[in-house]
Amino acid sequence: MKAGHQVVALDNLITGHRDNVAHLAGQPGFEFIEHDVCRPVAIAGPVDRVFHLASLASPVDYLAHPIETLESGSTGTQNMLELARRHGARLLLTSTSECYGDPLEHPQSETYWGNVNPVGLRSCYDESKRYAEALTMAYHRTYGLPTNIARIFNTYGPRMALNDGRVVPAFIDQALKRQPLTVFGDGSQTRSFCFVSDLVEGLLRLSESEERYPVNLGNPAEMTILQFAEEIRARFDNAVGIEFKPLPSDDPKLRRPDITKARRILGWEPQVSLTEGLSVTIEYFRNKVQRSPHGFPVRTNARPDQVDFA
Ligand code: UDP
Repeated sequence: MKAGHQVVALDNLITGHRDNVAHLAGQPGFEFIEHDVCRPVAIAGPVDRVFHLASLASPVDYLAHPIETLESGSTGTQNMLELARRHGARLLLTSTSECYGDPLEHPQSETYWGNVNPVGLRSCYDESKRYAEALTMAYHRTYGLPTNIARIFNTYGPRMALNDGRVVPAFIDQALKRQPLTVFGDGSQTRSFCFVSDLVEGLLRLSESEERYPVNLGNPAEMTILQFAEEIRARFDNAVGIEFKPLPSDDPKLRRPDITKARRILGWEPQVSLTEGLSVTIEYFRNKVQRSPHGFPVRTNARPDQVDFA
């Protein structure tokens, strides 16, 4: 919108919130439609870009809604590809580092085919995104549709839901409530956290490029989850402890993007350090808690994936 585009946002609000676009409501050039991408959609007027970001991205959410997750990657992706095709638009698919599964190559570059358990609990997410990538490539090859595929690594920032369940909001939520931080496993697994504004810039640049194969977008600054817990504790004067919980099944042990390709073809790399990004994010959540008369919606941190029913 800052660049002068007209934007139509679709969300079925299964995990999203109207509050997140409240500041855009009523602005010329913005329209919000409550809609599930798994049903066909017609948009009046010309469309020149489709950004297909619809998915349940948090393990807590996709494990609670595995079928909806598979549908948004399959039927939802096809509906968005058809929308782009009807309008002669380009489509950008947001895929995921989960395509690499529990990776045997580190850091992960786009040429790595991954190590995904196709029948594990996380497979509803991983395989829906892998299918979405395959479908996107098939539309490009069959119809010549201009497409881009971003493989997003752990991203965080304001407007995440505090009860989202992912580690950044989970630890901040716990710290604000002065509860111990729940570290799964021994905390030696690694992640690399990218601030949302960096990711958005990467998506916009990728949507302008002619690159049809996947491009990693993420911040290569890798840390263990235990180090991350210590970082959050330090922000709260070490006033909260750490509680170790079982490691969910198939939880990737190492994750760090190789962003050589994004640097080369998009001239992109993250600009926001974890220190800066966390300050903005903690501030956002602190204000939200203070504004809410009821505090946070409560969700237990017991994750369904701690038990493998297989
Ligand atoms: N994690 C944790 N405590 C939590 C939530 C997550 O230790 O309360 C760990 C989780 O096991 C994983 C990492 O933090 O190793 C990142 O988890 P998240 O759910 O944010 O995203 P993922 O990378 O697994 O998709």
